[in-house]
This record gives sequence, structure tokens and C-alpha cells, in this order.
Amino acid sequence: MINKFKEYEFKISAYELALTTMNFDAMTVAPKLSSEYRNERMGYLSGEYYSIFTDKEFVEIIENLKNDNSLDFITKRKIELYDQFLNKTKNISKEEYTSFEKLKMDSYDAWEKARKENDYKIYEPFLLKLIETSKKLTLKREPNKDVYNVLLSDYEDGMDKEKYDKFFNLIKEEIVPLIKKITDSKQIKNQLEGYKFPLNIQKEYVNDILSYLRYTDDFGVCATSIHPFSSRLSKNDARITTRYNENDVLDSIFSVIHEVGHAMFEHQVADEIANGIIHNSISMGTHESQSRLFENCLGRSKAFWEYNYPILQNKFDFLKNISLDEFVNTINISKPSLIRVDADELTYPLHILIRYELEKGIFDGSVDIKNLSNEWNKRVKEYLGIDVPSDLKGILQDIHWSDASFGYFPTYALGSAYAAQIFNKMKQEIDVDCLLRNNKYDEINNWLKEKIHKNAALYSPKEIILKATGEEFNPRYYVDYLKNKFSSLYNI
Ligand code: ZN
Repeated sequence: MINKFKEYEFKISAYELALTTMNFDAMTVAPKLSSEYRNERMGYLSGEYYSIFTDKEFVEIIENLKNDNSLDFITKRKIELYDQFLNKTKNISKEEYTSFEKLKMDSYDAWEKARKENDYKIYEPFLLKLIETSKKLTLKREPNKDVYNVLLSDYEDGMDKEKYDKFFNLIKEEIVPLIKKITDSKQIKNQLEGYKFPLNIQKEYVNDILSYLRYTDDFGVCATSIHPFSSRLSKNDARITTRYNENDVLDSIFSVIHEVGHAMFEHQVADEIANGIIHNSISMGTHESQSRLFENCLGRSKAFWEYNYPILQNKFDFLKNISLDEFVNTINISKPSLIRVDADELTYPLHILIRYELEKGIFDGSVDIKNLSNEWNKRVKEYLGIDVPSDLKGILQDIHWSDASFGYFPTYALGSAYAAQIFNKMKQEIDVDCLLRNNKYDEINNWLKEKIHKNAALYSPKEIILKATGEEFNPRYYVDYLKNKFSSLYNI
């Protein structure tokens, strides 16, 4: 029985490798005209992949092993996760699954086209169809549950609307007034404005940052895409992408630091559980906690730049007129803005709040989906106090809805909150500033490997936070972290 199970595991991993590789290729280097041919073949392969899980023999193996008390801890967890996964697909036919996969790929292409032409109308019919299909398929598997609650718990086991409402209410109560205070206070000058950063030099610098973070070409590669992302083909093939903007060197730098946070998690999973379902099931919140920890708690700290800023100054001579303190203040400027991925650490959770409210409304019917672009713009005005000049800077900015990842966004804010709690613990146990200053990022990676990475999804998100920090998730750490950091930065 166990051997048969292992055969299935291998077969599943082969399909996963093929599909992930093709997807990475599609998102980075594949020529525009290649999509139709590829999408059809990928649709076929995901159908075959789906067939494995609906295979009677496989379902029976899982059913039998579920009741086998002689299994070791790891195999037991694998069976538990497969069982959860099978429950998600049990009432959905192969045709429904395949056509949904195809719809997602076509929607991605429509989203890209709509962005290129700045025309939401190109994407809108696909988005509406994605919403309708998500609802239908979710109700088929969980007819008695609230659709959005099911989606939320798909991305973060244990979360629902009630818990997220509490979390986001705390953000509203504590962070919105702080943002208002900062807006009314003396602004920090952006010292980098007006400079040009040639792309070839930016690319060289990105390599310096990658080495500092210990992200090497033994197990990683950094490509270019519209929206930076990370993709694990295997434990030792944890890829990332970034993008380059001549007017903004920070865009590529912080995208890279963020994505390496994800990739390092993927790479540092223990060998015994690597590349299988336990590795695949890392929760979105835990995953995002690592990228946020890298990007914000560590990557925007003074100690990080005490080592890295002189190297940046050597690449771009004009930076020699800007002091380390001025640079560190600049990378931490807080100002309400339109694009989520460019948002500063403090206003970021409000971008997520907007998407959370929209998604909640889409699925409970309180938001008019025929009017989504306006609903979006209305909330941006309400929470961030700014007008949205075009859909490119509004509803067309994110990739996530184009692949039907409804329920995913809230995990970003949750990840930031986990990160603050983990960072607090890390500082108690190792001298983080000293390590950053002295080019010893490997020791930070090691701490994270022991506390979090090696376990992947061997435990639930709740247990992982408990194991790593010694207490259950507490959003107070996040709110206090933001309040302390930004009050001192802005002298308020
Ligand atoms: Zn991320």
C-alpha cells in the first residue's frame, strides 16, 4: 500500500514539475504568440494531473491509509493533506476542472492585454466569469458553507471572515489615525527623485543583493516579468523574478529581497518532506511572513544598509551626496499611493483592506460586480484619500484575480503581521543588527530554517507561529511594530 502511494506521489510530482516549468516559462521568456498553443497543452496536462487525484485506486489508498495507525508522523501528515485536497475536488468533474484551468489561462492573457491597452473592458467579461465559476465550484464542494469563508480557509487554514474582520478592524482603529497624523506632519524628502538608474547597472546590483542574501545560482535564478513572483520547481530550483524601472532603483531591489524571502523558504525545507504535498501546502500567510520579514523588517533597516549602501553608492556615483540616514529615511517614506506593490509598509495593509472588502462584497452580493472598477476607486478615495486616474492604477494592477485567487489577498496583511511577531522573537534570540551589518545573512537564514522553513506545512499555520514564537498569533505585535517604527521616523 505504501509503495503504491509512493508511486502516485512520484507521478504527481512529475506533472507538477512539467506544469510549473511551463508556467514559469510563460510568465517570463515565452513569446506573445505562443500562448494559445501552450495554453491548450497545459490544459490537457492539468486534466491528466487532475485524473490522478480522481483515480479510484488513489482515492482508496488515501481512504485506507487514513485509518492506518502504524504510519510515521510525516506520512500521516501527507495523508491528512491529500485527504483535505481530495475533499476540495471530490464533486468537481474533470471537464469542469480543465475548463476552469483554461479559463484562468485565457483570463491572464486578457488581463495582460487589458493592461497594455489600459482598457478594463477587455478583462471584465473574464473576471465576471471567474467569479461566477469560483462561486459555482465552491458551492459544489461545500454546499452548506459560506463561499468566501471556504475560499479564505483554502489560503489560510483556520481563517474566516470573523477572524479577518477583527484583524482588519484593529488596523482601521490604530493605523488609519497614524497615517492621518503622518500626512499632516513634516514630510521626509525623497532623496532619490529625479535620478536615472541605468538598467544594466541595476542588474549588477541585484546580483550583489542576491549574494548578500545567500541566494545563489546553485539553487536559484532571477528572471524578469511584469509582476515579480517566485516559483519553486523543486527544493533546489527555487526561482524568482523581478522588474526594472530606470527611474526607480528601489523597485527592483525590494522586489528581489521580497521574492528571495519566498524562495529561501522553499529551498530550506527539510529533505524528508521536500517536493511533495507537505512542501506544496505551506500556508500563504506563513509564506508571505517570510517575504515581508526580508523586505521590510530586515531589508528596510539601517543595519541592512550599513553594509549594502556603500556598494550601491559605488555603482551610482551621484548617491555619494546622499547620506546613509537620508537613504534609510527615503526607503521608509510613508505616503498614500495607488499601486499596492509599490505601497510603503504602513499604508500597505489598507490596500489589502480594500481588496478584502471587495471580495467579501463580491461573494455576499453587497458589491455590484458590474461596477467593480468604480467600487474599487470609491474605496481608494475613502481609505487612502486619493483619486484613481485610470484602471491601470486601479483594478487592473493585480494579477491575482486573473487566476481566480479570491481569498488570497488577506494573507498578505496576515503575513506582515506574522512577520512582526517572528521578528520580535528573532531579535530576542540573535543579534540581528550585528549580523546584517557584518554580512552574515546566512545566520539569519539558519535561524529561520530551524524555526520555520524546515517544517513547511508539517504543522498548521497556528502551530507554526506557536512553535516559532512561543505564543499564538497576536496582531498586537504588528500594530505596535508599525506604530513604534513610524512614530519615531516622523517624530510624532
Ligand atoms: Zn509575496
